[in-house]
Amino acid sequence: MAGFRLLPRLNAENRFFWTSGSDGRLRFLRCEACETFVHPPRPICPNCQSEAVSPATVPGTGVVDTYTINHQKWQPVLEVPYVIARVAIDGAPGVYLTTNIIDCSVEAVEIGDAVKVAFEQHDDVWLPLFEKA
Ligand SMILES: [Zn+2]
Repeated sequence: MAGFRLLPRLNAENRFFWTSGSDGRLRFLRCEACETFVHPPRPICPNCQSEAVSPATVPGTGVVDTYTINHQKWQPVLEVPYVIARVAIDGAPGVYLTTNIIDCSVEAVEIGDAVKVAFEQHDDVWLPLFEKA
C-alpha cells in the first residue's frame, strides 16, 4: 500500500477531519441543534439548516458495510490487490466512510467485519484507514 496516496486538499471546512488523527481520535461534524452527523464536512446541517456544526469524537470503530478488491495498478507505485471498503462508523448514525482495510490479506475481509481506525500520516494529513478489530 505504501505510495498509494492521493492526498486530500485541506480547506477550512475539512481540515479538522484530515488532521484529527494527530491525537489518534476520529472525528466527524455533528449538528449541535439536531445531533445529525454531517459528512463530508460542510458548514450547514443538511437536516435542519443549522450552522452550529462542530467536530465530535467517535469511538474509532465501525463495521464493513460493503467492499471491493482493487486489482488495477492505477499508478506505478500502487501495490495491488487492496481492499476499498465502505465502513459504517460506530457512534455516528448515517456516516459511511470510504477507506481501505489494511494489515490483512484481501481474502480476510468480509461484510460485517468489525474494524478500527488506523491513521496513516502523510505530512499534515492523517488518513483514516481501518484494520480488523
Ligand atoms: Zn441539524
